[in-house]
Amino acid sequence: MEIDKSKKYEIIVFPNQNEGLKAQRVLISKGQDFKHIATLAVVVPEERSQEACLAIIKGNALISGHYPFLYRDYEEDFFKRAKEYKVSESDGDFLKSITLCYVAPCMADEKRIRLIGYFDRDIAETLPYINAVIKGASYNRGASTLTYGKERRLINLYNIKVTIAKADDIIDAWAVLDEVKKLVNNTYIHRDTIKPSYEEKVKVTALQIYGWLPKTNCRACGEATCLAFACKFLLGEQKLSKCAPLSKESKFAENKVIMQEMAEALGIA
Ligand code: SF4
Repeated sequence: MEIDKSKKYEIIVFPNQNEGLKAQRVLISKGQDFKHIATLAVVVPEERSQEACLAIIKGNALISGHYPFLYRDYEEDFFKRAKEYKVSESDGDFLKSITLCYVAPCMADEKRIRLIGYFDRDIAETLPYINAVIKGASYNRGASTLTYGKERRLINLYNIKVTIAKADDIIDAWAVLDEVKKLVNNTYIHRDTIKPSYEEKVKVTALQIYGWLPKTNCRACGEATCLAFACKFLLGEQKLSKCAPLSKESKFAENKVIMQEMAEALGIA
């Protein structure tokens, strides 16, 4: 299928290679129009997306999610990057696979996506070592979570899953998941040479929290300013639910999810 720039498309993402191959065989057998991105995802015309997803599910294959293909400005670059992307085939010594179970567009920035991947085993024992390796990570021993940033992306490692917010697109997301797998495995392999750190560093500042808030100083939370709210939130003295615009306005929905994850990871939820 060729992409017609005047039409709308969606990307359907699959959890792993096996499911992707199975799904693409179903689409071919049902005569569905699609453009192959990789074993892990296809592009379909927007008006056929629901039908394609149903056919895949009825064909006993799984999908992680689907979202609008909005990359008209850089389609050629997107497909070139997709072609160059090599799925990480090697099984790690510790973590063998991450299954992408959820993909959706970021509500606050429709050109970026958020996702959840599940590990094939519990990685909790590696988190203190990763905490020692990544400068600027925030570790919460009680909740067994570790949060760190990679440019604009926010990555939360839990014992059995990873969430990533604000990935550029699905190719970027796959690359970040591969990096997470490598990070966990390399850290595990070298754990004898790393002094584990159980230090619960809170690296997020009030100004960073302020950056995620609506910044209207509307006082609905009972504070005089959003910055005052941010300071109290960081101390665990304010709740996200008290910020009415953040809770009610859809344009802030993504910020709220990111802040909730951050708060959970920092142990201030
Ligand atoms: S309710 Fe939200 S937007 Fe209004 S002042 Fe408080 S933190 Fe700022």
